[in-house]
Amino acid sequence: MKLIFATNNRHKIDELRPLITGEFELITLREAGIDIDIPEPHDTLEANATHKARTIFDMTGTNCFSEDTGLEVSALDGAPGVKSARYAGDNRSSDDNIDLLLSNLAGKEDRSAQFRTVISLLIDGQETQFEGICKGHITAAQKGAEGFGYDPVFIPDGAAKTFAEMSRAEKAQYSHRAKATEKLVAFLNTYKINH
Ligand code: IMP
Repeated sequence: MKLIFATNNRHKIDELRPLITGEFELITLREAGIDIDIPEPHDTLEANATHKARTIFDMTGTNCFSEDTGLEVSALDGAPGVKSARYAGDNRSSDDNIDLLLSNLAGKEDRSAQFRTVISLLIDGQETQFEGICKGHITAAQKGAEGFGYDPVFIPDGAAKTFAEMSRAEKAQYSHRAKATEKLVAFLNTYKINH
């Protein structure tokens, strides 16, 4: 089964591709010949994930999925959350977002946080969502050069280094995105048996 992954984020594609195996062929937007930046206009991860998947399904009629991810920091009442990409403002860099996050956390004892991913799958127009959560904490400074986004300041529970100090395979042992994708793959395997 061909499945379009409705994202232009190369890092997300690289993380997911090794996890979607077997009879499922993951097609990127670029491979599908689609050159659009899908907006994220809503105020929840769930609604944005739906919006992105629905946009591509309506354009192509091809089964597809999207994902939306946010970093939810306890001492900041869940911020930056759904606004994680634009925390420091529109068109700002990941470094700008991280700088703002660290300055907003300065002096706070509780540095616990979680990444939350919501995947929205559309098969024959029917939607199913899958959630993946990775709990951890925010470091005092950036460490590591792998990954993307907030990876240099996030250490998952059970690990001693940031996501940005891990290989892709190591990150997948802990990550929100890998957990949501495991649920997606389990669903797809069951779906295949029943159809
Ligand atoms: P979105 O899901 O593309 O809207 O991403 C939201 C924001 O969270 C962006 O700033 C990403 O860089 C960041 N982000 C998403 N996933 C991850 C991750 O796995 N690690 C670190 N940052 C992430």
